[in-house]
Amino acid sequence: MATFSVVSCGFAPARLAAHPAHQQVRELPDPTAPDFLQLGRALVEQLPKDQPILLVHGGRREQNRKVGVLRALSRGRSVVGVSQRVPPTGLAARATWLSTLADRRVPASLAIGHLERHGSVLPTVAAISSAAGLDVPGVKLRHHAMSWIPTVCFGVAIAGEVKIGNGNPGVTFPDEPADRVVDGTPSFENKVNFHSPQPGETVELPNVAQGAKWWGRARYYEQTFVPRDILNTLRLISQERFGRCPQCGGVASGSCPFCSAREEVAV
Ligand SMILES: [Zn+2]
Repeated sequence: MATFSVVSCGFAPARLAAHPAHQQVRELPDPTAPDFLQLGRALVEQLPKDQPILLVHGGRREQNRKVGVLRALSRGRSVVGVSQRVPPTGLAARATWLSTLADRRVPASLAIGHLERHGSVLPTVAAISSAAGLDVPGVKLRHHAMSWIPTVCFGVAIAGEVKIGNGNPGVTFPDEPADRVVDGTPSFENKVNFHSPQPGETVELPNVAQGAKWWGRARYYEQTFVPRDILNTLRLISQERFGRCPQCGGVASGSCPFCSAREEVAV
């Protein structure tokens, strides 16, 4: 029995064989869709009452607002938004990753906290011909200027922080087997030479339009790496200091994502 339910809002989870718990991820439309609240309320009713519900979404202002409304409407249930400003393959990887942690009996608050502090466990790298349409921190004036040069190809790495470089933004991965979630124009794949981890399975996303919107370009190639083995993550989580939330009594590390209350002294 999983420790919490994972809901992907506006995208599908990464269907990786090494992470079969992705089959437990439930899907809702994007929070900005007109029927999000209606379908969301119906889904919350269907999900196990004794489990927290994590709504994974893209973290834009309107998405945050609508998820907040659904949370307010779900009074009496532990519903929380997991807001992640990452491209579509990164969102798909995160929903799958969280479902695996739930399957391994990790408390929801610790899974959320770990993902927020160690987002680099699921690094995204991408190749784009222009950074002009990119809505992420770190895009500088020189990137905009270089975007006008037809032969330039940018490498973008989103691994906890955003790095943009002409060609390779300089990111290294742990030397361990990892699967890839990919999306975009395949001919762009070789434009940037990344030092990838040992590759495993490759899965593609079903909805290409989402990537074009995120990157502000029709032509891009993005890939998010998902470690095959979560033992390293489980080890790190088990070493974290945690206590109890003074409001709901749940396990919390730092602050409780369900109550926004600080943990009490560890018990
Ligand atoms: Zn709490």
